[in-house]
Amino acid sequence: MAVTNGLSVDIEEWFQVGAFERTIARGDWDSLESRVEHNTGLVLDLFAQAGVTGTFFTLGWVAARHPALIRRIVAAGHEIASHGWDHTRVFTMDAAAFRDDLRRARIALEDAGGVAVTGYRAPSFSIDARTPWAHRVLAEEGYAYSSSVAPIAHDHYGWRDSPRYAWRPLADAPLIELPVTVAEIAGRRLATGGGFFRLLPAALTDFAVRQVNGAGQPAIFYFHPWEVDPGQPRVRHAPLRSKLRHYSRLGAMAGKLAALVRRHRWGRIDAIAAAR
Ligand SMILES: [Zn+2]
Repeated sequence: MAVTNGLSVDIEEWFQVGAFERTIARGDWDSLESRVEHNTGLVLDLFAQAGVTGTFFTLGWVAARHPALIRRIVAAGHEIASHGWDHTRVFTMDAAAFRDDLRRARIALEDAGGVAVTGYRAPSFSIDARTPWAHRVLAEEGYAYSSSVAPIAHDHYGWRDSPRYAWRPLADAPLIELPVTVAEIAGRRLATGGGFFRLLPAALTDFAVRQVNGAGQPAIFYFHPWEVDPGQPRVRHAPLRSKLRHYSRLGAMAGKLAALVRRHRWGRIDAIAAAR
């Protein structure tokens, strides 16, 4: 029987990405054009048309400002999980600050959605070798699973020597880590999902999904609502490299996603975690 893969969307605004963190000040966020409700609506329509459900890792900051969007996601049968409060990366915090961030986000998400939050994804996959306390804090805060590690070497993130498939980081707690899927070619790990899916041929993602399913494992795929929004405001003063990554092929993304979700079997990550 075909393996059910994890379909996930990281719900954040176009200006809340790592690429623009030195260009756009947090204090200016509330004065910028909000596009998250519209863009997430496009994603919800796309999933409904394909008949798939998935996990929406959402910032508490977004939930506090757009509670109707959270209710809409829940009503459509998707999982609401946490992406932290305001996209502060875990390796920039200590354990106490991380705990505060988790609590603040969870209150906003659960207040808006009316359902329990049991999953967490670190902003920019920022749980790595620098944060040995992070999984412990997640377990203590009652999370069932995390999908916060990129088992790869990358210029902005990654934990190269961590397991490629689902693992239990703690000996005395059931918390499971479901790392984002990487392809393995000739001993090298290649990133998939997000900008990699948008910028590279879809065949690479198909290869990765089939490769991990062949090992009896679920793939964990992710993208962002701003990636289906060619009309988003352009940030002129960001580094060229960041702009190239952020703006390329936005117009082709929705069609590419619609085809991908039909080529494999997908579901919510909480169900995948519970089955392992
Ligand atoms: Zn994010």
